[in-house]
Amino acid sequence: YGGGSGKVDYVFKVVLIGDSAVGKSQLLARFARDEFSMDSKATIGVEFQTRTLVIESKSVKAQIWDTAGQERYRAVTSAYYRGAVGAMLVYDITKRETFDHIPRWLEELRAHADKNIVIILIGNKSDLEDQRAIPIEDAKEFAEKEGLFFLETSALNATNVENSFNTLMTEIFNTVN
Ligand code: GDP
Ligand code: MG
Repeated sequence: YGGGSGKVDYVFKVVLIGDSAVGKSQLLARFARDEFSMDSKATIGVEFQTRTLVIESKSVKAQIWDTAGQERYRAVTSAYYRGAVGAMLVYDITKRETFDHIPRWLEELRAHADKNIVIILIGNKSDLEDQRAIPIEDAKEFAEKEGLFFLETSALNATNVENSFNTLMTEIFNTVN
């Protein structure tokens, strides 16, 4: 997990957003603790979790904020976005409406967050290929049009979870250096 007790060179706040039940909390559990739960309860309490990475010999702490079940439109407060330098915009590849709501989340993000925020679009639950509702090409095209990074992930089997957080953190690192 890197970092240890040594000094931290950077702390980057990252916010997780997207509809309820797309897997935000499980992506965070996988990344921060290498855990996954099938019956995850609606997120309560803990505001953020951290994990320290090493990027170009610097110690970089990701402080990742999870919504406390406030995923309804406009319920996420501006305090949540304040100071965020990165965002993971998550949908569920098996649920069409969660992808259809992405432009709305993007609008919220652009209204509340810093204009230089780095955004990655995440299509989660890639393990459920037989239930896929969103073709990967549609998401790629959308991401390109909006200037977002894009990956499909599975918090369940850990596919691309490291890769997606690393991509986001490295890009943030590059924008401040
Ligand atoms: P959140 O509301 O966005 O935080 O979603 P959760 O992380 O609570 O996940 C909602 C449900 O989807 C839970 O039952 C999870 O176990 C399940 N889930 C999350 N990620 C995955 C995944 O990658 N694959 C599968 N098959 N299920 C997942
Ligand atoms: Mg949650």
